[in-house]
Amino acid sequence: MATVHPKLIESLVEQTPRAMIAMLIVSCAYFGIFIKFVPFSVLIIWFIFQILLAWYRFYNARTFRKCLAQKAEKKLAKHEKYFMLSNVFQAFMWTISSILSIVYAPQPYELVSLIMSIGIITAAALSMSSLYKAYLVFFFSMIIPQIIIMLNYGQHQHIGLVVLILIYIPATILLSRAIYNSRLSSIEAHDELQDNVDELHRLSIMDNLTNIYNRRYFFEISKKLIATASRDNSAVSLLMLDVDFFKHVNDNYGHQAGDFILVELVKELGTIMRKGDVFARIGGEEFTVLLNNTALEGAKVIAEKMRVTIENKMFNYSCHSIDITISIGISELNTENTSIEDLYKQADKQLYIAKKSGRNKVSISRNAA
Ligand code: GH3
Ligand code: MG
Ligand code: MG
Repeated sequence: MATVHPKLIESLVEQTPRAMIAMLIVSCAYFGIFIKFVPFSVLIIWFIFQILLAWYRFYNARTFRKCLAQKAEKKLAKHEKYFMLSNVFQAFMWTISSILSIVYAPQPYELVSLIMSIGIITAAALSMSSLYKAYLVFFFSMIIPQIIIMLNYGQHQHIGLVVLILIYIPATILLSRAIYNSRLSSIEAHDELQDNVDELHRLSIMDNLTNIYNRRYFFEISKKLIATASRDNSAVSLLMLDVDFFKHVNDNYGHQAGDFILVELVKELGTIMRKGDVFARIGGEEFTVLLNNTALEGAKVIAEKMRVTIENKMFNYSCHSIDITISIGISELNTENTSIEDLYKQADKQLYIAKKSGRNKVSISRNAA
């Protein structure tokens, strides 16, 4: 499992190019300053390692990006570890640079290395705080060798600098912690906002009793599907369902029983529905189903299946067993019915006929029945 929020890793990935360019600039500065003391071959090897390190960090950032896109958490956790190791290696490289300056350069050039290291640690607080633990590892791997080096000199000014560094440690850690917290809280606030937007969208398209699409969204999505079907010349049918004598259910068993039946009815019909079908509640106890790639005859088979399923189902509410039936009207996309409004009107007409002919019926346009 990845140990940090994916968006914190994203922010680290974003910072990588800037951080690496800054690191290479400082490496060039070190190269320029110490070239007159340190043997060229040693310095160039050190510099090549710095370039390799920067290349690895770019590669690591690219891998992070890939893992995030694929949501590969295990891989992400593995590359977090590699990132940490590369930072320990980077700290080691800067320790080497300090050692080179001690060995080859006269005093007070060791202070140049120290100042460079402190600068790198401070800049890293900005670029690496998103992976707070990795920053701490980097921080201590950088600072401890510097303290040891300064103590090793044992002179008054070096001891004084160690004291300053010790005061500086909590300040930098607090700074990076503050950056981490502020990034995390802004990410969490953004996530919360996104969740609210998603929930608001869900509420605007779903019926909150039955959890299927509402009337408004049904018409919106149907328009698009019909436009595609007309273009592709494929069949579309519409079922319009209405519960028979639903008022009696409310009158005899109460409104809550009525609600319960609506929910159970939707669940039951949902098992008959296919993946591409659009199921919606368009009114109190009225539902529509837009059947994609289905002509009238196919729609009739599905409607019959729905009718028989509901006819045979016993709805058990509290201690009552309630029997209900549904009537269904069907229409089809054709030269006369070209829009969702036409389909709806036709299906409604057929539903009316189904009701008139005794209910618990499926009615279909006469020319195709
Ligand atoms: P018909 O066979 O002609 O369709 O008879 P019906 O009683 O089903 O038709 P009518 O349109 O007269 O009544 C529909 C009833 O559905 C009236 C209303 O109280 C009830 N109803 C509408 N929405 C809801 C709801 O969300 N929950 C409950 N429990 N009842 C509802
Ligand atoms: Mg009814
Ligand atoms: Mg009705």
